[in-house]
Amino acid sequence: MDFDYDLFVIGGGSGGVRAARVAAGEAGARVALAEEDRYGGTCVQRGCVPKKLMVFASTYGVSAREAQDYGWTMMAGGFDWPSFRGKLEVELDRLEGVYRKILKSNGVETFDARARLKDAHTVELSTGETRTAKHILVATGGWPVKPEFPGADLAITSNEIFHLETLPKSMLIVGGGYIACEFACILNGLGVKVTQFYRGAQILRGFDDEARGLISEEMIENGVGLHLGTNVLEMKRVEDGIWVKATNGKEYTVDQVMFATGRAPNSADLGLEEIGVTLGRNGQIEVDAYSQTSVPSVYAIGDVTDRVNLTPVAIREGMAFVETVFKGNPTPVDHDMIPSAIFTQPEMGTIGLSEEAARDREPIEVYATSFRAMQTAFIGKPDRVLMKLIVSQKTRRVLGCHIVAPQAGEMIQLAGIAIKMGATKEDFDRVVAVHPTMSEELVTMRTPVRTA
Ligand code: NDP
Repeated sequence: MDFDYDLFVIGGGSGGVRAARVAAGEAGARVALAEEDRYGGTCVQRGCVPKKLMVFASTYGVSAREAQDYGWTMMAGGFDWPSFRGKLEVELDRLEGVYRKILKSNGVETFDARARLKDAHTVELSTGETRTAKHILVATGGWPVKPEFPGADLAITSNEIFHLETLPKSMLIVGGGYIACEFACILNGLGVKVTQFYRGAQILRGFDDEARGLISEEMIENGVGLHLGTNVLEMKRVEDGIWVKATNGKEYTVDQVMFATGRAPNSADLGLEEIGVTLGRNGQIEVDAYSQTSVPSVYAIGDVTDRVNLTPVAIREGMAFVETVFKGNPTPVDHDMIPSAIFTQPEMGTIGLSEEAARDREPIEVYATSFRAMQTAFIGKPDRVLMKLIVSQKTRRVLGCHIVAPQAGEMIQLAGIAIKMGATKEDFDRVVAVHPTMSEELVTMRTPVRTA
């Protein structure tokens, strides 16, 4: 059968764009891509990129105060949100242009439209057109979800936070995951009075207990009003903001409320189930190790499959899909030992197993040190950092590494290479320390703090 294309990609985010351009540019496939919103997807338009720029913006106030303590004469004025937001919008437009250009220069035909699957080889566009393809790749990502309760519509999500007309004076953030914690720190750094509710006993569930404990302490020390075991019961608009009734019995009035209570796969109304694609309980597209769905011509990558929801993972999945389908080299995606960073203040860099997960699997040694870093200790700040290694007693391999410190994301990228290669504790010990740095502690910890 003759198809219009070899590949039709639905979704112009990091994963979809990478797969489309490599399939067209390197494998010579005839490729089309449909995107209903802005090119670049969550990472570029509503996530990692604008978030990281906001992280940078939010740290200058503290840096200015620290510079003063170091002897500089500094004038730390207020933060001008409209000026920053204007520059951010220009940057996001530029990046969208880059994505469009990459697709064009690789010969990918693009449709600024929503696409739905009509059958195993046909997509229907919101423009009314239909197109056929030998393979269809769904890369539609995810979307923030809010629980339902009275007044929930008054709250924004991370999608809206980058476009606020004015920076609120006070804000309630609900949730204890990556997004809630990162934005609590960002907004606090920008001078917003931040209250954060998390329903559980400690933020950042699933990460190493000692690491998340330290982040939580430091966030509180830096001024975030963190309330654990607390959730929202009801909200309503009042004259001076949004009134919130909490499960702790207290009432709050804030300018703005943001819910960061998780994200759901964007799989609704794509025609998936109608053509026989199996979805999981949370709406995620079920795929095998090669990202193939239950319909052989349809593949899916990225957050819509809810495997490891990170941009570089979606990109890997896109590349592996092209290797498998267009280069005749079946390539499963390796989801093991993925380093990642949480851009809280302080930052966390992490790879592998937490102490709690590791000790459930096998006997371990724990090497950890928490200390006041030279740069801030010098000016009398109480900030502490953490360097931690989890080591297998049997194989001596480093099973996990958790760093809480400024620039921890940069550190874990490099430590991650050795750990992914299977480095043992003794391999770490053989490396000479770089002095004076914080990360030198990773190669100088001689005695385990505990075994388990
Ligand atoms: P997460 O799933 O990480 O966190 C959701 C949070 O909301 C949890 O604390 C959860 O609590 C809480 N929650 C869920 N439902 C409710 C509810 N009904 N009422 C109150 N609280 C609720 O989602 P995020 O939105 O923070 O992030 C989504 C994904 O995006 C992450 O998993 C990550 O993969 C990715 N991401 C990665 C970043 C990075 O790499 N730096 C940055 C931002 C996002 P509980 O723990 O009790 O379930």
